Amino acid sequence: MSTPFATPLTLPGICWPLQASTGHLAVTTSHITGHFRAGSGLDAIILCELLPAGKFRNGAARHWCRTHQCYWGTQADLADWQATRQMRCRQHASPMGYVLYPELFDPMQFHATTLRLGPDGLVQLRARADEGGALFSRDLPALAIDCRALPGVFPSDMVQLNVTPPAAHAYAAALQVGTPLDCSDCARCGHPHLDLGSFALAPHRRHSCGQCGHDASHSATPIVSSPLWRLRLRITQCD
Ligand SMILES: [Zn+2]
Ligand SMILES: [Zn+2]
Ligand SMILES: [Zn+2]
Repeated sequence: MSTPFATPLTLPGICWPLQASTGHLAVTTSHITGHFRAGSGLDAIILCELLPAGKFRNGAARHWCRTHQCYWGTQADLADWQATRQMRCRQHASPMGYVLYPELFDPMQFHATTLRLGPDGLVQLRARADEGGALFSRDLPALAIDCRALPGVFPSDMVQLNVTPPAAHAYAAALQVGTPLDCSDCARCGHPHLDLGSFALAPHRRHSCGQCGHDASHSATPIVSSPLWRLRLRITQCD
């Protein structure tokens, strides 16, 4: 079979599509599987994670690729499957942003926590330790927030909330222009919804889930959704 690389590695990590209108921050595993050249970068090739996600409008079975945030099951996808014997989405070879061994931040051990996206594209995390009050300061390409200490805030199968550059950028941009922000949960899997790109600029009611691909969850009013909004009482944005 035509595999362009050697055996993929499974490592603790965060990855994100470079272009996508939804995202998947509330992960159920802290590991990613793919091909990496360094500890972080914008050129990882990550394996598809496909799961059944209803049907297309024409009735054909549909899958959702959680890795690349797109549907699978078109005629072209089926032809590729037949030719390669690999079930992979049309974005399977697209380079992705990634960080291996990311910082895992526990918001319960700190106060006065702020998160912002720096001009260099790094996520700037600042906080004061509850014990001793020491300043905690990190500039990172991406980081994970440990949500196990925040019961009831997110679904119980979720291990961490990944803060990726596109998510931090979309959140900061929405706050800056006063877009109605909220956090809408998927009607099917309960995971918090993330809007990115053009979806993060235009409030809307119908949301498509980055975790399971369900595309008919409705918020009560038009909003831009971000899981970061739900942490706003613990983590604020500074200007
Ligand atoms: Zn994929
Ligand atoms: Zn949405
Ligand atoms: Zn869902």
